[in-house]
Amino acid sequence: METLIINTGSSSIKYQLLDMPSGKLLCSGLVERIGEKNGKILHKKFTEEKEVDVEIEEPVPNHDVGMQQVATLLTDSKYGVISNTDKVKLVGHRVVLGGEKFSNTTRVTDEVKKAIDELSIIAPLHNPPNLTGINVAERIFKYAVQVAVFDTSFHQTIPEYAFRYAIPNKLYYENGIRVYGYHGTSHRYVMERAAKMLNKPVDKVNLITIHLGNGASMTAIKNGKSIDTSLGMTPLEGLVMGTRCGNLDPGVIIYMNESLGIPMADIKRILNKESGMKGLTGENDLRIIGNDYINGDKNAMLALEIYCYRIKKYIGAYLAAIGEVDALVFTAGVGENSPIVREFSTAGLAHLGIAIDQGLNHKKSNSERDISAADSKIKTLVVPTNEEFEIARQSYLIFQENR
Ligand code: ADP
Repeated sequence: METLIINTGSSSIKYQLLDMPSGKLLCSGLVERIGEKNGKILHKKFTEEKEVDVEIEEPVPNHDVGMQQVATLLTDSKYGVISNTDKVKLVGHRVVLGGEKFSNTTRVTDEVKKAIDELSIIAPLHNPPNLTGINVAERIFKYAVQVAVFDTSFHQTIPEYAFRYAIPNKLYYENGIRVYGYHGTSHRYVMERAAKMLNKPVDKVNLITIHLGNGASMTAIKNGKSIDTSLGMTPLEGLVMGTRCGNLDPGVIIYMNESLGIPMADIKRILNKESGMKGLTGENDLRIIGNDYINGDKNAMLALEIYCYRIKKYIGAYLAAIGEVDALVFTAGVGENSPIVREFSTAGLAHLGIAIDQGLNHKKSNSERDISAADSKIKTLVVPTNEEFEIARQSYLIFQENR
């Protein structure tokens, strides 16, 4: 059954068309720079024999037009795989924040849309475009069941002592200030894959999952449930990221504003877009930073040390939080592809039962793999994430329940 997965940003629509339940990828694409003069659509069709790509450069004035373009490509005789939009029976949407309302994937209703809208106050950059994506998809794929899959729902099992901040209670009860966590779809997906690799039932598996993409987060998983995670109320907390600072003394923000006179709007930009690896090196791409390090650049080395030291501190914290841990699981662009990051962030942890085999670590591969040293008590796994497949899988379960 053709299932469309949509991830809508403020100026973009990422999509995949999959056959479910097989999970076979049929088409994928990206509509970029919506609302700007130089809009662009990249579309790919996958068949057994070959991949057919098309790139269209033209203005895409709004999400409605963007989604219509997607529909046109999916039904095109050369680039598409379906005869008309009514063939799409299921659309799964990535929604960033589900707050405390949504601990599970859910079918979209007016009430669900209202709740997503109300949560926009906490996720102003993400929830509004996610909702736009839902509204537009409802108009174009009229006969499809629309499902919302939240980045936060996997983390709704985190106990209160771990999700609360030590600030006045009122700010939690009246304003919802607490840890929500993100990347839940990815953490859940790699957990399930890791459980298979370890030959353990999911509800018995204890893991530290390490998602290192442009955004980055770690999750402590006990008996198949998230019990702590490093991103907080907003996607700024925790690890050093591509352009985001991660953990920071909150007093620094007060100092920047009150003593240095930097307006809050600028602080927001600095911490979200100009910090992290970009702030430390001028680059946010770990490939470039890794190469600079290999070529002897001291600053690149320091930035990598800062990045990996933060990961190592969370490994220590989560070992304490979980107890017996079966495995560390590295995933996403950096986690899957950077042996340097995996090496630095696990170095010197043999006394805690974590040792990796450097030969296996440095071997290039796109597959799920175990890179642990033979005598390592705790395994280290590399598992390529597949958030779209996980969104499709969860959406399909809801579809079956609603049949
Ligand atoms: P997101 O989905 O958050 O945009 P990805 O999971 O695709 O991010 O990860 C993107 C990041 O992965 C890039 O910033 C890049 O630095 C990093 N990356 C990709 N390939 C490599 C590689 N071979 N070595 C190191 N880092 C890599």
